[in-house]
Amino acid sequence: MRRNEEVALLLENIAELLKIKNENPYRIRAYETAAQNIRALEEDIAELAARGKLDEIPGVGQAIAAKIQEYLETGRLQFYEELKREVPIQAVDLLEVPGIGPARAHLLYEKLGITTIQQLLEAAQAHKLCKLPGFGEKLEERIAREAARLMQRTKRLLLGVALPVAEAVVEALRQVPAVREIDPAGSLRRMKETIGDIDILVGSERPQEVVDTFIRLPMVKEVLAVGPTRPSILTREDLQVDLRVVHPDEYGSALLYFTGSKEHNIALRTLVQERGWKLSEYGLFDESGERLASRTEHEIYALLGMDWIPPELRENRGEIQAALAHRLPKLVEQREIRGDLHAHTDWSDGHDSLERMVQAAVARGYEYLVISDHSPSLTVARGLTPERLREQRRLIDELNERYAPFRILQGAEVNIHPDGSLDYPDEVLAELDVVIVSVHSAFDMPSERMTERVVRALSNPHVDILGHPTGRLLNARLPYEIDLDAVLDAAAEYGVAIEVNGQPDRLDLPDIWVQRAIARGIVIACTSDAHSTRQLDNMRWSVATARRGWAEARHVLNTRSHGELVAWLAEHRERRARPLGSRCRTTR
Ligand SMILES: [Zn+2]
Ligand SMILES: [Zn+2]
Repeated sequence: MRRNEEVALLLENIAELLKIKNENPYRIRAYETAAQNIRALEEDIAELAARGKLDEIPGVGQAIAAKIQEYLETGRLQFYEELKREVPIQAVDLLEVPGIGPARAHLLYEKLGITTIQQLLEAAQAHKLCKLPGFGEKLEERIAREAARLMQRTKRLLLGVALPVAEAVVEALRQVPAVREIDPAGSLRRMKETIGDIDILVGSERPQEVVDTFIRLPMVKEVLAVGPTRPSILTREDLQVDLRVVHPDEYGSALLYFTGSKEHNIALRTLVQERGWKLSEYGLFDESGERLASRTEHEIYALLGMDWIPPELRENRGEIQAALAHRLPKLVEQREIRGDLHAHTDWSDGHDSLERMVQAAVARGYEYLVISDHSPSLTVARGLTPERLREQRRLIDELNERYAPFRILQGAEVNIHPDGSLDYPDEVLAELDVVIVSVHSAFDMPSERMTERVVRALSNPHVDILGHPTGRLLNARLPYEIDLDAVLDAAAEYGVAIEVNGQPDRLDLPDIWVQRAIARGIVIACTSDAHSTRQLDNMRWSVATARRGWAEARHVLNTRSHGELVAWLAEHRERRARPLGSRCRTTR
């Protein structure tokens, strides 16, 4: 998603605030000019920033470039935050909303008494804004959308952001002798795609020592609460971490209780009540009130006649019945992943060279790596022409010799045009080892046309994997309108694998749909979609999402060895090359 408009609005807000402060007119002008030029820019500003090329934008000097960089990387700009504090505007929070500058914020406060984003959203929904001078219906609609998005964003944290913070806290506290056991709890432990709060559970006989250490950890910016067993802090990243300390004897029941989900716990308690027993955070109790188990989760599940349920499955989607029948899936694990199937290099919009990506994949213990740079119509990502693709192939051949037995496969992430045709001609697709197809443009289609578009793409016999099938960007863009059931039916029919993209804001295919894909016999491709060596670690989030979708190693394409992968690709293409009539047609 292009962020040019967002950045332009930010710079305009700065200019307006500087005007109120009576700052140097040249300085004000510089921000206005930069904003104009960014708006006129054809390229995505985030792409430019990633390549360190911001100062190539006319009118953007080093100082402004640094500010844009900071804003794009962290989502906020210190300079702007300070400026807002210095300038007296009653409704300063409203400046967060793209489309609202200081003048409009002032008007909203004067006319409607609005000071918060929540009030703004309500006023927009009640159509009170369009009557104000200079607003109009279009702006009102847009403000409603942006305000809703902001409210959403402040509510949920991405798993890929929250878990590393939680793990840093867990690691630090593990060193404390008073800490007997410690785990992240809640949706974080279930590896849910977004989470509300960071909850950490500790088992200890000396809670005071744990609390004292916790509130003095180096990552603490502010202590929010200092209860004897329930302290709460704000980290330097402004994330709230809640700690809960329980006695080691009750650690298992507390962990079960605080891991959730609520739906899982309710279903579990119903089961317990049928026996006349009781389950709480303090333990499992029989009819006479005697405690039967509380020390570990395993004991509790076992007493209920169940296998221990991995946290990722605790959503009441059939895991309780499966655990009772001892038929839980043996979930795929990250160490079973033998290569990555989706990675970009600096041949297109990746940050690192092909060779560095290969070295990084080797360092992660992989057997192979699929290089999948963008196709030509994605100009912002400098997609590869067929000529450059062949040039890249020569480099890959060379590196394959140098890095043997490690294997590099040449793939591409090929754009699906609005009509469902692909961005390379068939003869070019035929030369590639792996063809991933993705939607990167024209997201606003009616569901029927979008579905037809993707299904048509999948019908191309060269296609191996469908990339990020819903197109959602968590907290930023809703999935496009599409009939996913029809897409999965087509994937099953054509034998196309479906990606579970591990970018923390994608996690696409989403977990519920992973489960439905597997039920159709579709092969899952766990990928990092890395745009840098470091991002190869996104594989963790992909595997987590696949696990939440009940995936076992046998369902995942890249748990296969290189030889098995190549055999799968060959077999799948060979099967598709056969005329349609001879193909075994399934349920449809
Ligand atoms: Zn993509
Ligand atoms: Zn990609």
